[in-house]
Amino acid sequence: MLQLGKLSIGIGDRFAHQAKAQLNAFVQAAEQGVDVVPVWNKSNREHLTIGSEPRSVREAADVAVKELSWTKPFHVDADHIRLDTVDRFIPHSDFFTIDVADSIGQLAGANAVQAFVNRHPELAGRLEIPGIDQPFETTRATVEQIAARYLLAVQDAGKIYRRIAEAKGAAPFITEVSMDETDNPQTPPELLVILAAISDEQIPAQTIAPKFSGRFNKGVDYAGDAGRFETEFQQDLAVIGFAISKYNLPDNLKLSVHSGSDKFSIYAPIQRSLSRFNAGVHLKTAGTTWLEELIGLAEAGGEGLALSKEIYREAIAHVDELCAPYAAVIDIAREKLPTATEVDAWTSEQYVAALRHEPNCPAFNPHLRQLLHVGYKIAAKMGRRYLQMLESCSEAVSRNVTTNLYERHIKPLFL
Ligand SMILES: [Zn+2]
Repeated sequence: MLQLGKLSIGIGDRFAHQAKAQLNAFVQAAEQGVDVVPVWNKSNREHLTIGSEPRSVREAADVAVKELSWTKPFHVDADHIRLDTVDRFIPHSDFFTIDVADSIGQLAGANAVQAFVNRHPELAGRLEIPGIDQPFETTRATVEQIAARYLLAVQDAGKIYRRIAEAKGAAPFITEVSMDETDNPQTPPELLVILAAISDEQIPAQTIAPKFSGRFNKGVDYAGDAGRFETEFQQDLAVIGFAISKYNLPDNLKLSVHSGSDKFSIYAPIQRSLSRFNAGVHLKTAGTTWLEELIGLAEAGGEGLALSKEIYREAIAHVDELCAPYAAVIDIAREKLPTATEVDAWTSEQYVAALRHEPNCPAFNPHLRQLLHVGYKIAAKMGRRYLQMLESCSEAVSRNVTTNLYERHIKPLFL
C-alpha cells in the first residue's frame, strides 16, 4: 500500500500553470523542518469546466517535481470521483477521493442492515471513546437507523474502490472516502458506524472527509462557531483513533478537510487538536490558487490589470449563472459588489486590496472574492489569451501563489 504522510495539503491548479509555484511553498516548509505532502487535486467537474484531461495534472506535477528536484512524496488526486467518472482518472492518479454523498440516505436492503447490526453488537449500548469525556448511549434501534442511512453509501464506496483496485493491478494508491457534500454533519456515533462499515467493505481508507458544522464558503473564512468546530473536530479525531484499533483500519487514517483553503479562524483550533491527539490531517484547497493568479495579473499592471478587470466585468454580467452551481458554498451580498465601471477605474493596488484575503484590510471585499472564485469559467473561455497573460506576468503570479500557500495556509496550520 502507498502510505500518505501525516500532514498533507491538497492543491488545485485549475489552469496547470502553478504547480512549481505551489511546490515552492512545500519546499519552504521542508526548509523549516516540517514535511507536508503536496497532493494535486482536480475534480471531474473542474476538468469539464476547463476542458482539461486528468493526464495534464500528472504531467504538470511531474514537471514541477523535476524542476525543483523534489525527492519527497507527492500525489495526484482524482477528486470527488464516482463509479461513472473514475475510469479516465485511473492511469494518472495515485490518490482517489471516492464521493458517495449522493448515496447517503438511500436505503440499503433491510437484510444488509440487519446483517450489519448483528455483526456489530459492540456499537449498541454505552460507547466509551478515549478522548471524549461523555460516553455515548446507543441502542440497537439507533444503530439500525444510522446503518440504514449510511450503509448503501459505504457499499457504493466499496464498489468504486474495487473497480480502481482491479484496474490498477499491482500499482499502489491512496483511498479517501468523502461524505462532505451532504446537508448534516455526522455525529461521533455515525462516524463510528461509517468506519465499521468501511472496514467490513475492506476499503483501506487513509482519509475520510466528514461534513463539519458551519459554512465552508469558497475562498473565504469559516463562517460558524469556531469553538463548536474544535469540539467536533476533536471528537472526530477520537473516533478515528478508536476505530483504527477496533476495526483494523490503516493506522495512518486521518481526517480530510474539504474546502479547507482560507479558513483562517479554524487553523489554530485544527493545530491544537492535532497536537492534542498526535494526529495528522489532509487539508484540501483548490480555487485559492486561481485567485492568486488574478491578484498577480492585477499586481503586474498594464495588460495584466486590464485582463483582471475584464474578468470581473464578465463575472458581474453573468453573476446568476456563475453562482447557481455553487449556491451551497458561497454567500454573496449582491449590493456589496462594486459595479464593473467602478472596478475599471481601480489601480493595481485597489484591485489587489479588494481581492487578496486579508480579512483585516478595510478594502478587502469577500463578496467580490467569492464571485471571482466561481468565475474561473470566464478565464477558461478566454483560452490561450488567459494562459499567455499568466506567462507574461509569471513573476507576480507565482510569487503570490507561493506566498498564499506558505504564509496563509502552511504556516498557521503546521509551523
Ligand atoms: Zn470536497
